[in-house]
Amino acid sequence: MSESEKLPVVGHWIDGKTVLGSPRSQDVFDPAVGVATKRVLLAEKKTVEAAIASAEKAYPAWRATQPLKRARVMSKFKTLLEQNAEKIASLLTSEHGKVMGDAMGEVQRGIENVEFASYATELLKGEHSRNVGPGIDSWSELQPLGVVAGITPFNFPAMVPLWMWPTAVVCGNTFVLKPSERDPSSAMLVSQLAFEAGLPPGVLNVVNGDKEAVDAILDDRRVQAVSFVGSTPIAEYIYSKGCAAGKRVQALGGAKNHAVVMPDADMDNAVNALMGAAFGSCGERCMAIPLVVCVGDQAADAIVAKLSDAIAKMKVGPGSEGKNDMGPLVTKQHMDKVRGYVDQGVKEGAKLVVDGRSTKIAGHENGYFMGACLFDDVTPEMVIYKEEIFGPVLGVMRVKTLEEAMKLINDHEYGNGTCIFTRDGEAARYFTDHILVGMVGVNVPLPVPVAYHSFGGWKRSLFGDLHAYGPDSIRFYTKKKAITQRWPSAGLREGAIYSFPSTK
Ligand code: NAD
Repeated sequence: MSESEKLPVVGHWIDGKTVLGSPRSQDVFDPAVGVATKRVLLAEKKTVEAAIASAEKAYPAWRATQPLKRARVMSKFKTLLEQNAEKIASLLTSEHGKVMGDAMGEVQRGIENVEFASYATELLKGEHSRNVGPGIDSWSELQPLGVVAGITPFNFPAMVPLWMWPTAVVCGNTFVLKPSERDPSSAMLVSQLAFEAGLPPGVLNVVNGDKEAVDAILDDRRVQAVSFVGSTPIAEYIYSKGCAAGKRVQALGGAKNHAVVMPDADMDNAVNALMGAAFGSCGERCMAIPLVVCVGDQAADAIVAKLSDAIAKMKVGPGSEGKNDMGPLVTKQHMDKVRGYVDQGVKEGAKLVVDGRSTKIAGHENGYFMGACLFDDVTPEMVIYKEEIFGPVLGVMRVKTLEEAMKLINDHEYGNGTCIFTRDGEAARYFTDHILVGMVGVNVPLPVPVAYHSFGGWKRSLFGDLHAYGPDSIRFYTKKKAITQRWPSAGLREGAIYSFPSTK
């Protein structure tokens, strides 16, 4: 037996039971030590089909369950999540690497999505009109789609699944979730808690896996809709393949978020905000800020100096140790890729003001650690400007006017999030009105909408029409039906009418 074969196995969750036995698997690492700690099974087509069959079998009874009873399961589930928050957060830290405070924040934001789902019945009400014609009443109602699926990324392994399936199941659908194979355990624990809260077997199924599992979901005619969150090339693939197969698809992709710092900004406030937004979760957030566009050299000089001081005080180390601000990157491959981008930035002529490439943590020499990096003089033709790095690398750009800063942002491929730091209300209003980005902050670096609004970017950060979670998710996971009804009575009986019915 190889070392890897001796590791604990993360299986699938199908029909309310753990399912083992897929022939392929891969190691799951603790990034703080660089050691494989578990092995995750990679579902083949047959296992995915079993999960879809389980969801299909559970659908008729779940669809017929009163909405309030479906929502009540979410209320109980929310309590279980709160009771298990630390356990979930520890799993996140041990597989993703993020520091515990950040992991607890992720769990809390996920709980808020469950809280939204627990009162979503309010949004499932249709519209009714009496007497739209002689003795005729008409109404519209929101009906579930059937079996729907979610495919999620590594960077929020507990929260992003909770953006999707709680609302989907409260709407009356049944669900197949395919979490990231890099850190699969928290999604498994969370799903088991939902089962404990009373979600019937088959209403939520989890299959772990890679492209093979994803393709099996996309190819299956029983799956009516797919929600995806991940990188842009895969989002585009899922969107085109899913739509071609006649499914409803929302696919949220990558990002490269700019912060604009105006000359009148409160520089200390801006620097505090930028430190968290650039280096929180080691920069592995789709709403991270990897670019600061400073308007005027004075603002740029102040920001670079203050950021350099703040980086020197940052504590890097294992996420499980409470004192640390930033943990490791998720895998060795990802760490090498991020370091490669920093090498590339130097070659391209950006000025590397702080170089975190050689940071080592005593006792954790094999962990995937990297210190924060700060570039100055980043320009639009550089690869480090154009591409998503998804690591602790912050680039400063220098422009002369707000218009110039906004043109940069509006011309960029991505349009997930952005923010402006200023004391000038007119500039902020102009910015929020004309910027081509889906989520905008004013003196708020991570403008992630709360659970009762919806989340989504513009341009190549989102393929599809409806955003994730909140009210848009109710629309995504239901279809509208309009019903017009007459019960003929003697007084209202009419002969055959051949003209198009109207109220004239
Ligand atoms: P990823 O695209 O590599 O993986 C996402 C999911 O797709 C995973 O479940 C993975 O198994 C699957 N997948 C990977 N390769 C595939 C392939 N070739 N065919 C089919 N399926 C495939 O993304 P990631 O590295 O896990 O996550 C980071 C990315 O996600 C970043 O680009 C980040 O910006 C983005 N993200 C976006 C949002 C958002 O809301 N827009 C939120 C979180 C993360």
